[in-house]
Amino acid sequence: MDVDERAGGYAEIDDAGWLAGAERRPSPSQDRRPPGTAIDLLVIHNISLPPGDFSGNWIDDLFLDRLDPAAHPYFRAIAGLRVSAHLLIRRSGRLLQYVAFEQRAWHAGVSLFRGRERCNDFSIGIELEGTDDIPFTDAQYMRLAECSRRILRRYPAITEDRIAGHAEIAPGRKTDPGPAFDWDRYRRSLRAEDRAAAAPDLSLDRPAE
Ligand SMILES: [Zn+2]
Repeated sequence: MDVDERAGGYAEIDDAGWLAGAERRPSPSQDRRPPGTAIDLLVIHNISLPPGDFSGNWIDDLFLDRLDPAAHPYFRAIAGLRVSAHLLIRRSGRLLQYVAFEQRAWHAGVSLFRGRERCNDFSIGIELEGTDDIPFTDAQYMRLAECSRRILRRYPAITEDRIAGHAEIAPGRKTDPGPAFDWDRYRRSLRAEDRAAAAPDLSLDRPAE
């Protein structure tokens, strides 16, 4: 049986919540979601290490809990932080997955969405490599649209109005993804992807780099 036809998109994400085509980098900074928790929020972030530098693999080290505090002055303050995200989209569009969606990644911290605290419990977190003020790349918007479409198909409780920036759920504490993130472009791309959903989309399965 043709996998795509059978699954209607579900095969793009397996039962554990690993996304086909993403590089799997299991993070030690994760745990189980509370039993019975519906996954119904998508949180968009940005991160770069050190801030504004897109050349290294330090985010990878941070999410794998092996960041060398001596490698850069900035790292002293954050090495040892136990943090992760489900997905990271690098500047090139390269896609890495650190936590399967069914598990709880540690990306939101103290947070509140429409009266519910601890957004990590019920959300999926996507990090875009970047800063609040530097435009994100075309490759990142394309990859983000692909990933989001697949996530929304697999987790239909995440409706379009349940996609939030980190700043929205942690106001006063967080500012990402920041003013450089073009929400209109992102939301338009989601709708365009919706219309194209019937067509096979294999682009995610090609290596980005
Ligand atoms: Zn964030």
